[in-house]
Amino acid sequence: MLLIPCPFCGEREESEFHQGGEAHIERPKNPDKLSDAEWADYLFLRDNKKGLYLERWVHRHGCRRWFNVARDTATNEIKTVYKMGAKPPRGLTKGRAK
Ligand SMILES: [Zn+2]
Repeated sequence: MLLIPCPFCGEREESEFHQGGEAHIERPKNPDKLSDAEWADYLFLRDNKKGLYLERWVHRHGCRRWFNVARDTATNEIKTVYKMGAKPPRGLTKGRAK
């Protein structure tokens, strides 16, 4: 069983949470100037890498608040959690590799 440390409630079972996808996806500043392929990339394409991944989670059966998780997708080890709007802790890379 995976235990997730909610930054607001403390450690809880994974079944109380919902994974919300990759973190730190920025909305394009001028979406009207993007090609269809660039817009589709923004909307639909996400990394699916093995290893450290920065993602969003919501504590839906608890405080119902969103936060970020740095998790190793191979081992499920959670390196850290941090609040929405915060930058990833030093030493952790952004979730999306270009
Ligand atoms: Zn919570």
